[in-house]
Amino acid sequence: MNKVIVIGSGFSSLSAASYLAKEGLEVSIFEKNDTPGGRARQLKRNGYTFDMGPSWYWMPDIFENFFQDFGKTTSDFYELERLDPGYQIYFKDKLLKIYADLDKLCNTFEEIEKGSGKKLSKFIAKAKENYKIAIGKVVMRPGKSPLELVTPETAVRVGQFLKSVSDVIHKEFKDEALRAALEFPVLFLGAKPENTPSFYIFMNYADYGLGTWHPKGGMYEIVKAMVSIAESNGVKIHTSSAVSKIKVSQSGKVEGIVLEDGSFLEADFVVSGADYHHSETLLPKKYRQYSEDYWAKRTFAPSSLLFYVGFNKKLAKTFAHHNLFFDTDFKAHASDIYDKPNWPKEPLFYANFPSASDESMAPKGKEAGFFLIPIAPGIEDTQELRDKYFNKIIKRLEDFYGESLQEHIEFTESFCVNDFVSEYNSYKGNAYGLANTLRQTAFLRPKLASKKVSNLFFTGQLTVPGPGVPPALISGKIVSELLLKKSV
Ligand SMILES: Cc1cc2nc3c(=O)[nH]c(=O)nc-3n(C[C@H](O)[C@H](O)[C@H](O)COP(=O)(O)OP(=O)(O)OC[C@H]3O[C@@H](n4cnc5c(N)ncnc54)[C@H](O)[C@@H]3O)c2cc1C
Repeated sequence: MNKVIVIGSGFSSLSAASYLAKEGLEVSIFEKNDTPGGRARQLKRNGYTFDMGPSWYWMPDIFENFFQDFGKTTSDFYELERLDPGYQIYFKDKLLKIYADLDKLCNTFEEIEKGSGKKLSKFIAKAKENYKIAIGKVVMRPGKSPLELVTPETAVRVGQFLKSVSDVIHKEFKDEALRAALEFPVLFLGAKPENTPSFYIFMNYADYGLGTWHPKGGMYEIVKAMVSIAESNGVKIHTSSAVSKIKVSQSGKVEGIVLEDGSFLEADFVVSGADYHHSETLLPKKYRQYSEDYWAKRTFAPSSLLFYVGFNKKLAKTFAHHNLFFDTDFKAHASDIYDKPNWPKEPLFYANFPSASDESMAPKGKEAGFFLIPIAPGIEDTQELRDKYFNKIIKRLEDFYGESLQEHIEFTESFCVNDFVSEYNSYKGNAYGLANTLRQTAFLRPKLASKKVSNLFFTGQLTVPGPGVPPALISGKIVSELLLKKSV
């Protein structure tokens, strides 16, 4: 019998569980929280709906591939709309709208910097080639060996792993706003653009080429769809069931898990989609592969200060569905995240108003607002700091809106470092895993299969391919393929 226990119910766990169950294995998921979805949980309050984590639906092809693997399509579960503009960026002296139409966007670039329209078109064509190689040839590899990265296509692009995204963008584009706009997509990979290999400009194609989409009802619709796929393939999902130990036999083989109430559940295989560092703490010390020192030396993706706000007024005449506030010093903020962890003086932030394009997200005439300030993992988190930064960003929002907004706030909820730790067992409260820097890419990331415990596997944003929802779907698929090779 091939009994599999999956720890956690984030996208990677739901993906792995579904693929394994489809092959006939007996799969159960154990999730500590009372609803599935991991970092993509949903908050509902006073008729407002908020996605608590991810809000950008990029790479629709990856979602489609997942559902097609199960004989379905995304439209069997949710309705997708391509947003236009995909998003807008507020700079000190200008507003840049990222139009869905690439020609229109090239014209916008041209108006800002002479010659940049044509350059953008060329840049996106190159990014598209990289996307095809990354998604078609490289991303499905399990990260076991450096040789996985060697293909005829990557061999001629070795230089792209030595130069950074910033090197390439800064060479072509001079205007600071255009540079910042083009560097934005790789922030999803969790590191500074100057520390991200230029091969990853494929994220620019994911953005400008494939577009920014919105599933009607919000990102939680994806979770519901994946739960439905998992359950229809036989996966049993147990929520409010925190795992406190992974048991290993004398011979070094996984035996099962112990839940917080002390009950032992036997398994032939265990796959953990919980944060890797936490998952290893569930093991006796001698079976952990990575030391505390190893984790301390990694570059983690930022943590975040998040606010979920109900506004009793529509703000959509000014703001779009997705808005980036890049009206302060990008470099100073990045340095406060990566170089000298500190609360940023004047942070960049992201504001999401899903009800600007989807009426189901807020009561009529009102607006649901989600705000995100990226911050260093592990920094101090107090109510006082949260309040201070809330006031800062509302003031900045008011400056762009041109009217006071404070009196239109029905309620505010916040989520920060301490919540990431207590809700998700996240290492230092990181929001989206381990950054994809040159030294933390592919085979240099924590391994999917334990080297010390047989039949124990890991998946999710700390493994391959990395942070983000589409990579989590892929990670679940790759780990299932590794595991299936060992099952009988
Ligand atoms: C604020 C925020 C914004 C983001 N924005 C985007 C975006 O716009 N687009 C995008 O693509 N990606 C985005 N991301 C990243 C994306 O959400 C994640 O990369 C992805 O959801 C991670 O999935 P996962 O399966 O790896 O892990 P998780 O979602 O973290 O799932 C792990 C699960 O394990 C559970 N768990 C932990 N310990 C235990 C235990 N002992 N027992 C049982 N269960 C346990 C946790 O509760 C959790 O449910 C964002 C993330 C955050 C936090």
